[in-house]
Amino acid sequence: MPTSDSRGVGEFTRNIPTLPKAHLHLHFTGSMTVGLLKRMSAEHNIRLNKELLDSQPLRVPADRRGWFRFQRLYDMARRCVQTEQDMRAIVDEAARIDASEGSRILEIQVTPDSYAKIMGGLTPALEVILDEARLASARYDIAVGVIVAAARTHHPLEAKTLARLAAQYVGDTPGTVVGFGLSNDERSGNTADFFPAFRIAAKAGLPLMPHAGELLGPEHVDEIVENVHPARIGHGVRAVEDPEVLRRVVQNKITLEVCPASNVGLGVYASKDQVPLRKLFDSGAHIALGADDPLLFGERLERQYADAREIHGFDDAQLATLARYSIEGSVMAQRYRHTALLQVDEWIKSR
Ligand SMILES: [Zn+2]
Repeated sequence: MPTSDSRGVGEFTRNIPTLPKAHLHLHFTGSMTVGLLKRMSAEHNIRLNKELLDSQPLRVPADRRGWFRFQRLYDMARRCVQTEQDMRAIVDEAARIDASEGSRILEIQVTPDSYAKIMGGLTPALEVILDEARLASARYDIAVGVIVAAARTHHPLEAKTLARLAAQYVGDTPGTVVGFGLSNDERSGNTADFFPAFRIAAKAGLPLMPHAGELLGPEHVDEIVENVHPARIGHGVRAVEDPEVLRRVVQNKITLEVCPASNVGLGVYASKDQVPLRKLFDSGAHIALGADDPLLFGERLERQYADAREIHGFDDAQLATLARYSIEGSVMAQRYRHTALLQVDEWIKSR
């Protein structure tokens, strides 16, 4: 068992972008670069708030007002997405950048309701994302799957509709729906109201990966573990506050999609060094680092691994373990995971 202070004592020299990994927590709209957003806003003649353009990481307090500021900027970015080409450009860019940072697998999360209007319905909105995920996978040599996520701020009946839609595209290969999630402000809505949607998705064979344990504490993680039986939890970082909840997460091998930049951006922790990455790791929790919404939090996946090294003292062997956790936490077909795991072995053997 690792000790409570298992800071790496090995090497800290290998190149992080070449470490093969899986990116399991990235939202469609939030994945955009400022450059792509600027291009769309210019094309559609939409004025953007300067907070979206300055490339500075967003910092809001972890309260309702803080979330409101985050959501307002997010909605503004979403309004710039007006055509099928825009939607394809987002998926293309996310796949391209992730591949350049060493992701072998990307599971991108989308709430298609947001784009149903511009695409003439939920089905075409999802289909264009799936199609581009398939094309971008081939283009950049990365396996891109899609997670359909319902929003907690919408009516639970909408979540059921989305689960039924997702069920029609279930798969484990690029360009298919590989999972079902629940996103948006964790404090909004009642999680139990979404259980029927989770049941529909699970019955269709979709692994579940709802957000929990970022803005709410371990009791919400516990509720999800107990009732939803998730494959992964979006964030889950605050499971650390209750040893019993954390023990259950570890025992059930539920991967936690930990997104440090998001935790700090949303005010859950005051600074990066306070994100309990080391404590979670030492507890045996399987952690998949994620970037969540780089557009707003100002950092992509590579930086999360670099911070694990530079701030939390993860040596190369421990970074390789994080990468393995991310790959093993993917719900894409075994052949993609197997190849990526072999590549991690190669990375750690390399000098
Ligand atoms: Zn998220």
